[in-house]
Amino acid sequence: MKTFWTISSVLAVLWAGCTATHTINFENPDANYTWPVHDPQRPLPPVIKPGAENHLPPSDAVILFDGKDLSAWKSAKNPDKPAPWKVENGYFEVVPGSGDIVTKDSFGSCQLHIEWASPEVVKGDSQGRGNSGIFLMGLYEIQVLDSYDNLTYADGMAAAVYSQNPPLVNACRAPGQWQTYDIIFHAPKFEDGKLVRPADVTVFHNGVLVQDRWILTGPTAWKQRPPYSPHADKLPLSLQDHGNPVRFRNIWIRPL
Ligand code: MG
Repeated sequence: MKTFWTISSVLAVLWAGCTATHTINFENPDANYTWPVHDPQRPLPPVIKPGAENHLPPSDAVILFDGKDLSAWKSAKNPDKPAPWKVENGYFEVVPGSGDIVTKDSFGSCQLHIEWASPEVVKGDSQGRGNSGIFLMGLYEIQVLDSYDNLTYADGMAAAVYSQNPPLVNACRAPGQWQTYDIIFHAPKFEDGKLVRPADVTVFHNGVLVQDRWILTGPTAWKQRPPYSPHADKLPLSLQDHGNPVRFRNIWIRPL
């Protein structure tokens, strides 16, 4: 892969948002708009009902786990089989060795809310403590790790874009406590087998900005940073079995 992004080209692409080939006219801002400024005919956004509290799903969210069952998920290694993780008391828990789980539905650009807790009984250290992960499109990992008083490499700690970018701060709560990720992800775009827009991700960890529109250089891998390979616009979300009984609850997603 010989694609290099200069700062100006990345900014231009990000400014262009979903229309990667669209260029923005900064000399004449009005030229970018279909609607005159403050046009009363301009369509209003849909009304939705927000959750009663900010972490609860709004009315237009797709619920991926509501505390009851893993019906929105399946086994990654045996796609005909149900998700093999344990559900109890309103959360589910990784069953070490059973493998990753993936959503039955596919998603691309999205807003994702997910809550997790590392094991209350601390075992292991570094990458061996409370390790799991949220793989956007099954390819791009936001790390889940017990990073509370647990030294590891910066680009592998909780809320890192694994192998690529550490979080801006360590906002980790203590083991056993529930933590939130709110993730805004824009999927990469490919045309004719070539990357025309890289993925970017913004992450709030326990309400704190920790990834500020990070532009991913490719999919996640261990000890390497492979380039992008063209893929579909939507792919299943996956959660990682890294051998630790990490818990999850209250998962919802809003396709963008
Ligand atoms: Mg992980």
